[in-house]
Order: sequence, then C-alpha cells, then structure tokens
Amino acid sequence: MRDCKEQTERVADLLTESEPAHNGAAQPAPLPAPSAMSQAAAAPFIVCSGLVKIFRVADLEVVALQGLDLEVAQGEMLALVGPSGSGKSTLLSALGGLDQPSAGRLEVAGQNLLKLSAAELTAYRRRQVGFVWQQTTRNLLPYLTARENIELLMTLAGTGSRERRARADELLAAVGMSDYARQKPPQLSGGQQQRIAIACALANMPAILLGDEPTGEVDWPTAQMILGLLRNLRERYGLTIVLVTHDPRVAAQVDRVVAIRDGRTSSETIHTPDVPAAADTAHTMHSTAQAAQREELVVLDKTGRLQLPGDQRALAGIGRRARVELIDGGILIRPVDDEHSTAITEIDDTTATSLYHSLYATDPPAEK
Ligand code: ADP
Ligand code: MG
Repeated sequence: MRDCKEQTERVADLLTESEPAHNGAAQPAPLPAPSAMSQAAAAPFIVCSGLVKIFRVADLEVVALQGLDLEVAQGEMLALVGPSGSGKSTLLSALGGLDQPSAGRLEVAGQNLLKLSAAELTAYRRRQVGFVWQQTTRNLLPYLTARENIELLMTLAGTGSRERRARADELLAAVGMSDYARQKPPQLSGGQQQRIAIACALANMPAILLGDEPTGEVDWPTAQMILGLLRNLRERYGLTIVLVTHDPRVAAQVDRVVAIRDGRTSSETIHTPDVPAAADTAHTMHSTAQAAQREELVVLDKTGRLQLPGDQRALAGIGRRARVELIDGGILIRPVDDEHSTAITEIDDTTATSLYHSLYATDPPAEK
C-alpha cells in the first residue's frame, strides 16, 4: 500500500516539476472555436527554428538537435521518423516542455518555450500537452482502475469531482472503453491499455498530443485501431498530433512524415489529402503505383542548406564536396571527380539497386 502512495506522490511530483510527466497535461484549456482554428491553420501552430539541444555527460557534449527547423499546422497529424539517436525523442520532449532546448526558437501557439520560466513551462505542460508513451507502464498506474487513472490527472489539475466524472465518462466513450472503466491495467490487453493512455493524455483537454512510439508494443491490427482512434479524436477535439514512429505503416497513415537525421529535419513526405494512403507501401516512397500519392521532399533551412540522404549521396558518388549546376528546370548536384571513386565503393550491389529504384523509379520529366 505504501508503494501505491509513493507512486501517486511521484506522479504528482512529476506533474509539478520539470520532469517527464505522467501524461503531463492538466488544467482545461479552452479549445479554439472551429472558425478560429481554420483561420489559424494558415499560421503554423508549432514553429521550431534553428533548434539546438546539447546534452553534457561528464566531459562529453552530445549535440542531439543541430539547428532543427520544423513547422506544424494546427490540426495536423505528423510523424517523425529517423534512425535511432537522430533526435526524435529530444524534439518531442522539447515540444512537450519536458526539457528545454539549449538554443533556437520553439514557439507553440505563439509562446516561445525557451523564454518561459520553469513555472510557466509547467503550466504549459499541464494545460496544452498530452503524452502517450510506448511503454504502457509509463502511461498508467497499475493499481488504479482505468477511470481512476483518467480522473487522477484531473484531480491533480484541480478539476471538481462532478466535472471529473463527466469528462472521464466522455473520454472512456471516445476511446471505446466505457465497459472497462473498472478494470485495472494488468487486466487489459496492450491495445486497451494504450486506449486508456490516450484518454489519460486527453484528460485535461490539451491542444497537442505527443506520442513516442505509441503503437510500438502492439500488433499491427491494434496499431491500426489506435491510429484510427487518434484521427477520430483529432477531428473531435481539434488536436495537433506529433508521433515518433519507426514503423513505415504508421508513417503512411498520417498527413506528413518528417525524417530527422543527425538532429535536423532532412526530408518530408506528404500525402495528397484526397487519396487515402496505402499502409503496406509506406517504405517504397517512389514505388510506381503510389508515386502520385506520396512525395518525399528534401527540406531546406532558411539559409538554403539541405541534407542529402547519406545513401543517395553515396550512390551518386558524392563525397565531402559537390559541384552544383543550374540546369533547365532545376539544380544538379554532381560529384567532384577526384572524390567519386571512394564514395561509390562504399555501398554494395543490393543497396545500390534498391537505391537506384528509390531514386529513379518515378517517371522522368516530360520532354518539351
Ligand atoms: P532518438 O529518439 O531519435 O533515438 P534521442 O533524441 O533519444 O534520439 O537522442 C539523440 C541523441 O542525444 C543521442 O545521441 C542520445 O544518445 C543523446 N541523448 C538523448 N538524451 C540524452 C540525455 N538525457 N543525456 C545525454 N545524451 C542524451
Ligand atoms: Mg527515441
């Protein structure tokens, strides 16, 4: 029993300190009216500009974000993808006010999070953000029922009991878990626990929902159900959703996929809105049938820098320097002759073949 008390106190602490919170949302924040939201859609809701995060461990410095630029529109559902260690979780923590970047600009709904005091950041985290983590154990307290888990976050935010009950009922229904209100997490399946975790994340009506691999521990049918639920909740509550995922099938179901490499945004894949994305073709960015529906674009920063994907760079034989030529209809980046041979030998035949398809499978521009 003492464990339970300690755990509850720990959750309360987490919600009030600048530590990762248990679905760290709180006080109800009035959501913008639909008309205000459509007006706001023009201006980005989230703006990251030159975002830098440096971790200092003993004498070492790890630069987790290296001048990252990203804009997210209100109501957008975005997936962050990228290799392990590329800075995805660091960015998510920054967006959620769990950790402050070292430099740059990070604005959410007009507030620069880097300028907020610790208390203001806590208020931001409570009122405007909800979190869903990969591990269900991080989302829910095992000794509380589903309803108690949802209500706990409202209690900590000071919501009255009548409102707590009404909102917990609404959220349980919204995630399709009304019949499981009295169950405790260990009695629920992984997918059911994640649904309750989503209800917890929305307990205090945040404007932003952040998920770090929220479908990472469930099977694909369950993941699809959770993604469907998130889309549904986005419509219902006007949420802006940012998910980290390594699953291309998940990435294929959002509005936009932003790839992060070495702490910077490197490319974006956008879905054309009127064509539903096919989940099973997500990894073949340029596969012929899907080419019209999905397009991967390289991102340029404000000064015009862009990041060439390492594998494509190697295939093209581009080493440390490249020749840039303005050609009819675009810019051509060519290897410098003396660096060509070393770069091209670094990849094997299979990689080269698949890269060739990923680079050239789309139709060439029509002849004029
Ligand atoms: P991802 O989520 O894309 O796998 P992370 O954002 O977790 O990447 O990490 C980016 C880089 O920052 C990695 O090199 C990682 O080791 C480092 N890093 C992340 N968090 C910390 C921390 N708390 N202390 C020191 N280094 C960290
Ligand atoms: Mg991570």
